[in-house]
Amino acid sequence: MNQQFLQQYAEFIVRVGVNVQPRQALIIRCPIEGAAFGRACMEAALDAGARDVILRYEDELASRIRMQKADEDTLCRPMPSELRSYLDYAESEEGLCVLSIYAEDPEIYKGLDADKIHRVNVARRTFMQPWQEYTMKDKIQWCVVSIPTAAWAKAVFPQLAAEEAVERLWEEIFKVCRVTEGDPVAAWREHVARSTARKQRLNALDLESIHLTSANGTDLTVGLADGAVWEGASSIAENGAEFIANVPTEEVFTAPHKDRVNGVVKGTKPYAYNGEVIEGFSVTFRDGKVVAHSAEKNDALLGRLLESDAGACHIGEVALVPASSPINRSGLLFYNTLFDENAACHIAFGAGYPINIRGGAGMSRAALDAAGLNDSVIHEDVMVGSADMRITGLTRTGETVLIFENGEWVF
Ligand code: ZN
Ligand code: ZN
Repeated sequence: MNQQFLQQYAEFIVRVGVNVQPRQALIIRCPIEGAAFGRACMEAALDAGARDVILRYEDELASRIRMQKADEDTLCRPMPSELRSYLDYAESEEGLCVLSIYAEDPEIYKGLDADKIHRVNVARRTFMQPWQEYTMKDKIQWCVVSIPTAAWAKAVFPQLAAEEAVERLWEEIFKVCRVTEGDPVAAWREHVARSTARKQRLNALDLESIHLTSANGTDLTVGLADGAVWEGASSIAENGAEFIANVPTEEVFTAPHKDRVNGVVKGTKPYAYNGEVIEGFSVTFRDGKVVAHSAEKNDALLGRLLESDAGACHIGEVALVPASSPINRSGLLFYNTLFDENAACHIAFGAGYPINIRGGAGMSRAALDAAGLNDSVIHEDVMVGSADMRITGLTRTGETVLIFENGEWVF
């Protein structure tokens, strides 16, 4: 792979993506196959003034063996040391930021007991919630990026040999992450500025709801939470540092009201969940709640997802992504939510982000509930956008405004 691009990608991620501040600690979660990239990020962070970098290697094949062979009680048991290993840094005076290098084989758990995997994941997320709050509320800078692994690359390019597939996936990642445009930092500044202008425009409209329609049968009205704020591209952490939570990111998104979503929505891209793929789904909402669902592939898995807890059958996010996004234009299905969610408009089953409510990061759970922000242990983005999607907004003064036509922003 192109070493210069790799270096530029690592530096851009550390300096602009996670934007590590002088004297901060950085935790990097990295798949073992990506050790070279993890080290490149570590070096870039220390050069940028990080106090320390903690590299945590993760081995998904070992995770599969453990998921298969260890008993469920053990896997569900809370491990305070694991939670503390994040909180000790997060609570320290100099603070913490975190970079997650995500490169999961979309079918890593294929063939294992799906109910067990689901219960283990729910138990884990519940237990790690005090840490999750740091990212869900943007208390610290956080950034999720991807690098190819052989298993993931083979899922994207099944016709290629593993080595060739990894090369191709690197090329695609560099392209859709704007690394090949010569100066990724400048390209991202411009992209962030464009997204910021759009979210400011939407915030100025003071919308009560948006209405999504498409020839495939999607006809969905999404009422927005009280005090809903549109966000996109970059975020600001408690310490004032600007960061990009997801690379790539093409979305401008907000918080639906958990009880004000009505109509039908069709899935437009396959969706990888718990190591399996859900395809061709249709979901019907009444007063915010899913009242019917079906899927051409893995409907039972979709059902389990929606039953994770009381909030899982409501949505916590609606995100607008134009059909011209570089991820969609690549024509590829990445089997990785980080990429696929940026190819199309999407909704997320489960928790909403407090940052999508005005003043939400400082609000109590009861206040967030009252504003209509959904709560759940899950947050699962599913793609519903299409090339013919039309979106209108209804302002609180009763005016209808066109936002998307033929899958594209009208402003
Ligand atoms: Zn999103
Ligand atoms: Zn999301």
